Amino acid sequence: MLLVKGKVKSVYDTENAEEVLIKYHDKVTAGNGEKEDYPAGKGSLCCQISSILFEKLADLGIRNHYVRQVGPNNMLCKKVKILPLEVIVRNRAAGSIVKTTTIQEGQPIIPAIVEFFLKDDSKHDPLLTPDRVKIMGIDPKPLQEQASIINELLLNIFNLTGMDLIDFKIEFGIDNHGDLLLADEISPDSMRLWSKENQDRFDKDLFRLDEGDLVPAYKTILEKLQLFV
Ligand code: 5GP
Repeated sequence: MLLVKGKVKSVYDTENAEEVLIKYHDKVTAGNGEKEDYPAGKGSLCCQISSILFEKLADLGIRNHYVRQVGPNNMLCKKVKILPLEVIVRNRAAGSIVKTTTIQEGQPIIPAIVEFFLKDDSKHDPLLTPDRVKIMGIDPKPLQEQASIINELLLNIFNLTGMDLIDFKIEFGIDNHGDLLLADEISPDSMRLWSKENQDRFDKDLFRLDEGDLVPAYKTILEKLQLFV
């Protein structure tokens, strides 16, 4: 049975009450769903990239919802209640931080910052303060700590592939036992990756900015991860 229909993924229940099946669709959206396309093969690429990264992060001690991949587009995951937050880590300025401040694109952000945005398209995902997160009933501390550790691990992983991890968005959930788990997906749909060699983009900005095809770029990321990680 369908539990949640997201913009590019659907979540189904399974015979096991503790697990869900997440299906990655051949679909991409931007601007709160205002722009969309259906690139063939994209769902499977995001599913495979996410699987590799969740597995690697689990090996490195990051508790997450991933159980195993089931076929090219599906991922079996632990059932969690997703927190209504987008947790964003930035190593270099790009995207909304450039649009809303005087900071120039590409400026290194050292140490990296962790930001919180409300996960609510109807409110246009506003930037939150840690105080507001607290008043929402969520302790921001463990999220900040986990996000910073995940950033260090992902920086190391993408270094091996010759990519600069500019920023990324992660989501967390609470499982049936009350434990905090990294959830959702980790793919070039939710991160910015620039080639170290020439700063070419290998992420969803190609679609957002009409700068090229996603599928070959995501394929390159998958192949590099398969080769080096
Ligand atoms: P920004 O705040 O610059 O728009 O996004 C920062 C990072 O988080 C980027 O890598 C972007 O792809 C990711 N991100 C922000 N919001 C969303 C979202 O709603 N969905 C996805 N998939 N990624 C997001």
